[in-house]
Amino acid sequence: MTKRVCVIGAGPSGLAQLRAFQSAKAKGEDIPEVVCYEKQSDWGGLWNYTWRTGVDEHGNNCHGSMYRYLWSNGPKEGLEFADYTFEEHFGKPIASYPPRAVLFDYIKGRVEKAGVRDWIEFDTIVRDVRARDGGFEVTVRNEKTDSEKTEQFDHVVVATGHFSVPNVPEYPGFESYNGRLLHAHDFRDAREFTGKDVMIMGTSYSAEDIGSQIWKYGATSIVQSCRGGATGYKWPENWTEVAGLDRVEGKTCHFTDGSTADVDAIILCTGYKHHFPFLPDDLRLKTANILAADDLYKGVVWNHNTDMFYLGMQDQWYTFNMFDAQAWWVRDAIMGKIAIPSDMATLEADVAQRKAEEGALADDFACIDYQGAYTMELIEETDYPSFDIQAANQAFYEWKKHKKADIMTFRNNGYTSPMTGTKAPEHHTPWKDALDDSLESYLQV
Ligand SMILES: Cc1cc2nc3c(=O)[nH]c(=O)nc-3n(C[C@H](O)[C@H](O)[C@H](O)COP(=O)(O)OP(=O)(O)OC[C@H]3O[C@@H](n4cnc5c(N)ncnc54)[C@H](O)[C@@H]3O)c2cc1C
Repeated sequence: MTKRVCVIGAGPSGLAQLRAFQSAKAKGEDIPEVVCYEKQSDWGGLWNYTWRTGVDEHGNNCHGSMYRYLWSNGPKEGLEFADYTFEEHFGKPIASYPPRAVLFDYIKGRVEKAGVRDWIEFDTIVRDVRARDGGFEVTVRNEKTDSEKTEQFDHVVVATGHFSVPNVPEYPGFESYNGRLLHAHDFRDAREFTGKDVMIMGTSYSAEDIGSQIWKYGATSIVQSCRGGATGYKWPENWTEVAGLDRVEGKTCHFTDGSTADVDAIILCTGYKHHFPFLPDDLRLKTANILAADDLYKGVVWNHNTDMFYLGMQDQWYTFNMFDAQAWWVRDAIMGKIAIPSDMATLEADVAQRKAEEGALADDFACIDYQGAYTMELIEETDYPSFDIQAANQAFYEWKKHKKADIMTFRNNGYTSPMTGTKAPEHHTPWKDALDDSLESYLQV
């Protein structure tokens, strides 16, 4: 009997899984029946922008954490699909830091070409997964028809992302703060903060990027609260780094270094939680946002039930092509081309070794190399098109150096594609002056 595979989520990771199976089918291989459930009404995951915050139109947790004016925070040369290049999609070389709409278009382009849209049931949220009878029972709710069903699968691939459920700290005075207080998950439009004094909490990508966006769109001042010490970046004149927050009184933030700031808004860029409300304890991944995620053999196989897989659960330097590497590997494991060890000791030893290696990494450059090597390790065990991972690492190194030199201009640089060898052209407008983030504007010559 044909095996059945359930893929949960049609973001970049889930779509990579669909493309992996479709590429085997295109080569004439017998593939399992693949069903993908996606709670939103379109594909693309976080790249499918929504203005909504809080709950979505169906009353479920709003998945979107992306905002208007987001430009890729890393070079596109680091994330490029090896089987579908930017040049193939756009018909010409494009600059290195595309805005969200451009990346969304690129992600869509590959799966439209593959013809896998009808493998996906949209507006369908997975509510429950149980290990049963050597497989899985998956219960989903179609929000459009307001109906529930339960189906049997041999394998489940969880690709629901981990940047959608905010990690929210509490500080004295938050409840009576006389301004706008929000988590990065609910940030949508930098123009809301034009002419405002804003406190950004944290040193994550979100803190850097949301701060940069509101600076670009005319915030009066930015105070960045860095609990763990200074970021080392050269910020503009109206951007100050201070210590961790102690308390808030009225509109005044008091920091642990004794400094204070009166601000109109506080944006908590304090990270996200891995959250799988549809999974029982025996199937649920619990991990921090790290490179060697807990309990996942090869970073993808759930050690406690090896018919179940997770994609994209690691902290991410590499994204789209790492998800591809994982998806191709998982496809081959499901199709019996790759053997998964049957004893827990071997599974655990693999995770332990990855963790030890991560623990020994000296700096960000070493982390990039580590994740590049992991991506290549998986690719080499599959038929995913191999590529020059050193060239991709190189794009990341240059990005780091350009950020360090000037965090407000790094997006004006171009890098060499590891897939085509083409050097990206400079964008027609420096990032800080490019206020229109539309696809049409970006692709103008
Ligand atoms: C603000 C922000 C900016 C980012 N910028 C970049 C960047 O510039 N470059 C980069 O490479 N990466 C960036 N990322 C990282 C991002 O994680 C990846 O690019 C990518 O979106 C991860 O893909 P994913 O498919 O694993 O998860 P997601 O994109 O989160 O997709 C998961 C999908 O699962 C669906 N889903 C969730 N729960 C259920 C359920 N119960 N039932 C059915 N469907 C469900 C969701 O609706 C969603 O479509 C950014 C992340 C954030 C939050």
